Formats: sequence, structure tokens, C-alpha cells
Amino acid sequence: MNIRRGFLALAAMILGVGFFGASQAQAQVSTVPITRGGITCNKVIGGTYPEDGHMFRCSSVASYNNELQARPKNVMNGSWGTNSEPGLDMKERFAAAGVEFYVFDDAWQYKRFLDNVSSPTSTQLQTWFNDFKDLRGYSTDPAQTSQRAVVVFKNYFISGTYPPGNSASQTSTDFSHTIVHEMGHNYDFLTTDLAGGVYPSFSAEFARVANLDRAYFLANDPNAGTHDFTAGYYFKYNSGNGTTPPDNHWAELFAENFAKNIHGNAASDPAATADSLINTYFVCTKRYVTFMLLFNRAPVAGTTDYNTARCR
Ligand SMILES: [Zn+2]
Repeated sequence: MNIRRGFLALAAMILGVGFFGASQAQAQVSTVPITRGGITCNKVIGGTYPEDGHMFRCSSVASYNNELQARPKNVMNGSWGTNSEPGLDMKERFAAAGVEFYVFDDAWQYKRFLDNVSSPTSTQLQTWFNDFKDLRGYSTDPAQTSQRAVVVFKNYFISGTYPPGNSASQTSTDFSHTIVHEMGHNYDFLTTDLAGGVYPSFSAEFARVANLDRAYFLANDPNAGTHDFTAGYYFKYNSGNGTTPPDNHWAELFAENFAKNIHGNAASDPAATADSLINTYFVCTKRYVTFMLLFNRAPVAGTTDYNTARCR
């Protein structure tokens, strides 16, 4: 995948010289401030997607970090290359769906903005702490809400007790990785046409290879018990709670495969352990996601769409 993407990017760069003038390369972007709950989200406008009103740089003014807030655009441009298929297909899907990208310093600032609360009570802070503990980003589900969004937090609450709780800051590598992981959930949401009308992570075929991978991991990893405790979040079937739409899925495994495919390995646990295990034991689901990105369709059981015999 990396080799192919590299080649296509190089080809596009060569072809691009002389075709694209300065006016296209230097789109004039500006920002429109939207302030709620004392938190300002600067909506980026005037550029090409997502800088056409779909990217928001959010912070309290004092800690505004332009480089950090621009990261989603940079990550995305790296994800789908210049003019290459199927990366372009992915970008078109995101643009057509109007997926919005929000970067917040932390979940408390996000909740202040979302709920328009300038001075949260200790009870609100306690609830937010419990709800967002250890959460570094999330995606909204287009089947459940009209808003399609990737929301990421630079800083997150690690295990601890409020107040004040213990927080940690994502490294640069992990922050980019989180953005791509959340993009993976949106890619899952937006490709039902490639998986028989359901999210790929909900499909029978993805479940088939996920079960194969999980069984292979449990049978062959000498530290399966420890690793399943550390990174099991990514490796388990989520039985959901019976809501609509059906929420029985392997969505985390799908999204992390996407993140690993596009971005590479995370720097820190639990994603770093997950990425290492995907490389060794979860090659069938890894192939499923890679195949979708390469060929813009889901792989078919029993065929050489899977390049490892045990996956067929
Ligand atoms: Zn996830």
C-alpha cells in the first residue's frame, strides 16, 4: 500500500508541474469565529475540502495552537494523496457527506462548546470526566445523527478520580493516528455501497475474517491473555445494546486497520500494541481494509482477493 501510494503520489507530482498554477496552490483561506461557552471554534473557509467550511480550529483563546489545529488537513492530504485513486474516492466521499473535523484541546472544552456552558458546575465536570475518560476522539454516526463529524482531543483524561483527574497529552504521532482512526469510522459509515448495504464493519464478510483473525491470535500469540487485556478494545466483537441501527459490530478493528493502513503504527498503547498484533495476527481484516482502499470494493470470500490462504 505504501509503495503503491508513493508511486501514485510521485506520478501525480510530476504531472502536476506546470498544470497547477500559483492561484490553486495558494487558496485564500480565512476563518469565521464561532464562540459558545467561552470556547471559540474558528471555521476555516475559502479553500478546498475540508477548508471549505468543514474544518474547525477550536480552543480557548489563550492556548490556541495553529499548527496543532491544522493537523487534520495535513493528515488528510497525506491520506488521499494528490490525484490518486482510490484516495480521491475517499476524499470525494468525505466531501460529499460533509464530514466536519473538530480539534479541541480537551473534552471539557468540547462539552463547554457543544452545550454552550461557560461556567460548568462541578457536577457537570464530574459527568464529563466520567463520560470522556480515556477518550481521545470520536466520530458521529450518520445513521443516527445528521451531523457527520470527526472530533479529536489533544489532551485526554487518563484513569483517575475527579477532581481534578489526571490528564495526558497525545504525542504528535498519536494525535495524527487518532485523527486517522476516527476517519476510519467515517469511512466505514460512508461505504455501505461497497458492503451490500451495511457498514463494512457490520457485514458478514468482515465478521467472518474478524473471527478468523481473533481465533488465530488467541491460538498463536504466547501472550494473548495479556495482549487481549491491553488492546482487546480493538479486537472484540461489540454486542451493543440493541439500539437502532443494529450496533453489533467489529467497528474498532475496522477503524484501527484503517489507521494502521493509512498512517502506520501508533506510538503509545493501547493502539501501539494493537498495531503490532494486527501486523502479526490480524492479517485477514488488515487485507479486507487494504483491499477496499485499493480497489474500492469489499473482498470476496474464497477468492484471491485475500492474499493469505487462511483468510479465504
Ligand atoms: Zn474507534
